[in-house]
This record gives sequence, C-alpha cells and structure tokens, in this order.
Amino acid sequence: MNKLKILISKYCFNSLDSEEIKIAKSLILIISICCSICGLVWSSMYYFFFGFGLTTVLPIIFVFLVIPFIFISHFKSNYKILVYAQLTCITMVPAFIQWSLGSIHDSSFVIAWCFLGPIGALLFLNEKDARIWLVMFVIILGITSIAGPTFSMDGAKVTENARAIFYLMNIGVPSIVIFSATTYFLKNLIRQKERNFDLLQITKGKNEEIEKSLSKEKELGQLKTIFVSTVSHQFRTPLAVIQSNTELLEMLTNTGMKQDPEKYKKVTDRITEGISKMTDLMDEVLIFGKLNSGNIQYSPENLDLVEFCKILIKQFNSIQQDNRMIDFEIKGEARSVYLDSKSLSHALGNLISNAFKYSQGKKNPKLIVSFGLKELKVTIKDYGIGIPKAEVPHLFHPFFRANNATEIKGTGLGLSIAKEYVEINKGTLTVNTTEGIGSSFEIKI
Ligand code: ADP
Repeated sequence: MNKLKILISKYCFNSLDSEEIKIAKSLILIISICCSICGLVWSSMYYFFFGFGLTTVLPIIFVFLVIPFIFISHFKSNYKILVYAQLTCITMVPAFIQWSLGSIHDSSFVIAWCFLGPIGALLFLNEKDARIWLVMFVIILGITSIAGPTFSMDGAKVTENARAIFYLMNIGVPSIVIFSATTYFLKNLIRQKERNFDLLQITKGKNEEIEKSLSKEKELGQLKTIFVSTVSHQFRTPLAVIQSNTELLEMLTNTGMKQDPEKYKKVTDRITEGISKMTDLMDEVLIFGKLNSGNIQYSPENLDLVEFCKILIKQFNSIQQDNRMIDFEIKGEARSVYLDSKSLSHALGNLISNAFKYSQGKKNPKLIVSFGLKELKVTIKDYGIGIPKAEVPHLFHPFFRANNATEIKGTGLGLSIAKEYVEINKGTLTVNTTEGIGSSFEIKI
C-alpha cells in the first residue's frame, strides 16, 4: 500500500509543487484509473446483456482515450492535460452510451456519470470552469430527457432485473467516486490546514522568542547604562573617603601619630569602611551580573526550613548594635521543603537585613513562616519607614532607592537580586508597605 502511495505521489512530480497541487495530481490519477477500470467492467456487462454493439464499444473507447493521456500528462509534467481529457471523456462518453440506449429508463441512468464532469472541474479547475461543465451536463440531461427515446441506436432491450443492476451501478458507482474524491480532497486539505496551523504556531512561538530576547537585550542595554553611571557614582563616595583619610593619615604620620592613637584609629576605620562599602557593592554587582546572564546554579535539596530560618535569624541578631531581635513565628505544620538553600539564604538575608536597616529605633521585625497545604509563605515584616506609595512600582528595579531612604546606606541592588533568587526557586516576591508605618515582604513558593 505504501509503495503504491509513493508511486502515486511521483505522478507528474515537481519539487516546487504546493501541497494542494500534489493532492490534485494524485487524485486525478486515481480517478482516471478507477474510471478506466469501470469502463472495462461496463463494457463486459453490456456485452453480457446486449451482445456486441456501440454500447459495448463506447466504455472501451473511454479507456483507450484516457489511458494515453495519463502518460502524456506525466511526460509533459502537466497534470492539467489529464484533467481536461478525463473531464471531457467522463462527460461525453456516458452521454453517447445514454443516447445509444435511448431514454433514461432504457439506459438505467448511465447519464449520472456525466455529473463527474462539473464535480471534477470544481476539484481540479475553478468555479467558473465548473459552472460551464455544469451547464454542459444540464444540456446533455435536457437533450436526453426530451429527445432521448428517439436516439436509441442500439435498440437494446434489457430485462427488468438487469435494469435494476444497471441502475444500481450507474447511480451507485459515480456517487461513490464523487464522495470518495471529495472526502480525499477535503481530508488532505484539512491535514494541510493543520500543518499550516502548526507552522503558524511555531512561527508565532519563534517570533515571541525573538521579541522576548530583543526586549531582554534592550533591557540589558539600558541596565548597562544605568549600571555604569550608578556604580561609578557609588564608588566615588567611598573612594573620596579613602583618599581624604589616606591624606590625613599621611599628615598624622608626619606630625607624629603615636601621640594620638585614637585619632589614628578613627582614620583607619573610615578607610576600612570605605573599602568594605566598595567590596559590598562589587559583590552585589557581581551577583546581579551572574543572575542576569543565567549563570547561577539551581540546586534544590530537602531543607528543614525552620532550622534554616533559626540559623539565619541568629546571624542577623548577633550583628545588631541596638540589640533588637527578629520575632520568629511558625504557622501550620512545619515540614521539610525542596528548595535551593543558597539562593533562599541570599533572598531572605537581604529582606531581613533591610527590615532591620529601615526600622532603626522601632519595634523588632517579624519573620513568619506559614506552611500551607499547597504553598509556602515566608513573610518579613517591619515597623519602619515604609516606602512612598508612588515609588512602590519601581521597588524591584536595579539601583532603585526610595526618596525616604537616601540617608541610609545601600546600593539599591539587594531587592532585585532577592527577587531573582526567589524566582529561581519558582516563587514570587511581593510587598505590602505604607510610608511611616512599615513594610511586609512576602515570598510565596
Ligand atoms: P538597598 O537597601 O541596598 O538600598 P535594596 O534593593 O535592598 O537596596 O532596596 C531598594 C530600596 O527599597 C531601598 O533603598 C529602600 O528605599 C527600599 N526598601 C527596601 N526594603 C525596605 C524596607 N524594609 N523598608 C523600607 N524601605 C525599603
């Protein structure tokens, strides 16, 4: 069967053919062969019932006319030759058989075959040609209906039983051919449509991908500009501090520093702080760069979240100069979670550090871990300066610092890093804040 399909697909083959033309080529070949076989069968049947005569010869003439055109079309690489030959023969030959037999009743409706003409024209040519073929069919039908009985050349008389068989054949077979051809054509067309749809989807997907990477590229370009100007600006302050204090140190050395070790220490402390500021900024910039280029590894593991939070809280509590501490609360039934501890520690660490940093002199910040059935929520709540409402939408943008935070040291990179880290863990980071009342950051996984 497959070999046959391949053989049919090679008929009038042209690599530039559209899918529709390929279908048309194989379909006209199948129809021509089927109709030729029918011609042979019809001829034998007529011979059986009427003996030798014009009615017996006509179906054979159909076969001898169509078969050569199958080859001519193939060698000329023009399937339309076969289309016209087949349509002409299928319209004219049955009409002659009809007339040779006389009335529609005498011919057992052999004229039904002629209807393959307009249907074929509709499938292989165009609507306009199909209409001409239809008019031809109607004319033949009219002639047959009105003048048919006077044409009877063969004068063959057939028994009622044989007539019934011919009726069945002449109505049944062309109907089957029409139905099969239309189904074949439609099926292939639908398949082609589906293929086109798939292609469209793939192209759409690709376009979306290109658009995404383009906008990412654009975003990165903008980020680079902001980055260069912000980083150089942020480096300038600690560098100036280091520079002026180095000069001071030199002065103190020249004037006998040992006499005032306290002054000396103050100066070296300022230098150390400047260096540590620059190191912090550099570290954050490096992490941010890595996150943006997708160079961060995601290695999830089973994590005892409560223990994990306790260790983190301990670290942060120990460095608070005002002795404030995190109030820790667990909601729901604690269980281990499958997360990347490194990225979680970075994200949570930044949120805890901000909670302390932006609520100096206020109540203790709170860390609440809620174990839900399907999700996990980690909330860091503070009662500090909050964030002005108008500035909240920019909060997770790199280098963004709110207006009310300019006096507090920071780089503006921590939150965007935290957000990326949370997203690595397939979670979301949101904020709920009111200026002067406090902020609550929520990680939902
Ligand atoms: P940084 O704290 O180094 O400036 P972040 O990215 O961590 O950078 O924070 C960005 C900005 O968001 C901060 O400058 C501050 O204006 C605001 N912010 C972050 N966390 C809080 C908080 N808990 N309370 C008030 N403002 C906050």
